[in-house]
Amino acid sequence: MTVVTRFPPSPTGYLHIGSARTALFNWLYARHCGGKFLLRIEDTDRKRSTQEAVGAIIEGLKWLELGWDGEAVFQSRNAARHAAVAAALLAKGRAYRCYCTPEELTEMREQARREGKPTLYDGRWRDRDPSEAPAGVAPVVRIKMPRDGKTTIADLVQGEVTVGNEQLDDFILLRADGTPTYMLSVVVDDHDMGVTHIIRGDDHLNNAFRQYYLFAAMDWPIPAFGHIPLIHGADGQKLSKRHGALGVEAYRDMGYLPEAMRNYLLRLGWSHGDAEIVSTQQAIEWFDVAAIGRSPARFDLAKLESVNAHYMQASANARLVELVLPFIEKRQGEPVGSDGRARLLAGMDGLKPRAKSLAELAGNALFYVSRPQHPLTNAKAAAMLADDAPQRLSEAAGALAAADWKAASLENAVRAYAEAHGVGLGKVAQPLRAALTGSNASPGIFEVMEVLGKAETIARIQAVPGVTAHA
Ligand code: GLU
Repeated sequence: MTVVTRFPPSPTGYLHIGSARTALFNWLYARHCGGKFLLRIEDTDRKRSTQEAVGAIIEGLKWLELGWDGEAVFQSRNAARHAAVAAALLAKGRAYRCYCTPEELTEMREQARREGKPTLYDGRWRDRDPSEAPAGVAPVVRIKMPRDGKTTIADLVQGEVTVGNEQLDDFILLRADGTPTYMLSVVVDDHDMGVTHIIRGDDHLNNAFRQYYLFAAMDWPIPAFGHIPLIHGADGQKLSKRHGALGVEAYRDMGYLPEAMRNYLLRLGWSHGDAEIVSTQQAIEWFDVAAIGRSPARFDLAKLESVNAHYMQASANARLVELVLPFIEKRQGEPVGSDGRARLLAGMDGLKPRAKSLAELAGNALFYVSRPQHPLTNAKAAAMLADDAPQRLSEAAGALAAADWKAASLENAVRAYAEAHGVGLGKVAQPLRAALTGSNASPGIFEVMEVLGKAETIARIQAVPGVTAHA
């Protein structure tokens, strides 16, 4: 059997990280099994579905590099097929027309509530002769569900889950206006797309029992179900915006790498021993639905940051330059020239271990593309340029000018200067750091000098107020 999984988002907003995790699990399982991963846009709710949301979901999946097989299916285009299945169920005697008016249904529920009974539809049109149909009421079509007994689903994640059939009412397949319900559309499309495994959030577990009978009523094979616990916030509550749960594009814009996001989402609910860093290749090899935990995982931004720091460190310098450029350009409001790019590349080894995100990297790297402006806004750095710092810098610039322009020789030159003048290395190195980077924290200052080059280094030193220009 070829495994076929699917990701069926409703395009009513961004690709939320909870949905992104569902997509990832389906993608991984399909790739693990050598099967297919299909994308279906569930756009039947025309009022709430938007083109922007479709675009955002597709962008989000592309950014996460979760490619789907074949063309995306748009559910709304299958409405006629869904209606035809409802008609087939009517013909088979597995569905019936219900002529209850909305008022009658409300009355039925209110009465059940008064009597302390379940407010499910009571099946009053199930065996009634259609000749009794009231004039002028457009009927809905309902499925005939079993009336007694129990139903058990062997869920791949939750294990065996059983409900009493009295809890499953004859739900609606077609509305009075002839449009299919979610319950019908999803089953027909899953069947028609050959879906073998339905892996989704456990908020859909109740639907699984209903969908199970719909597959059965059509004599269609019933897919395997795996219902994943929802993600919780650090406080144990269901994840919401309040917990920092955003669309994936927000994480992209905060500067997380797609592979870090995949690794982090993978570990939200799935584990393999105590492995924290799991490459996508390794995840494809190891992934199994049965290893998804039964209790909700907690979202933890600090962990995402540390996973991201790992992947940044492992990333090729040239790629990081490309990725960080938009962040730098956004901050400084203009494109980075070729000198700036060359310095970013040359300085990346020193920059990348110091940042947990591309946004942080951009902040740390800004000095490579633009000169610090005096007075410095960083108060600690400004303080490093006070007192006798300008004099030290003037003299140090002289010592540097004679050195071979490599980090090691520059360091020797500065050490020799400090020794000759009886001052600690920090007395010279700290003002140099402030002068060259505008900050009190940076990659190794001699490496920075090498990357900036002689002319730029000397120019930045001379730009410090009080430094004598003839250095
Ligand atoms: N469109 C549904 C949702 O976004 C998908 C339901 C399913 O996975 O069956 O929740």
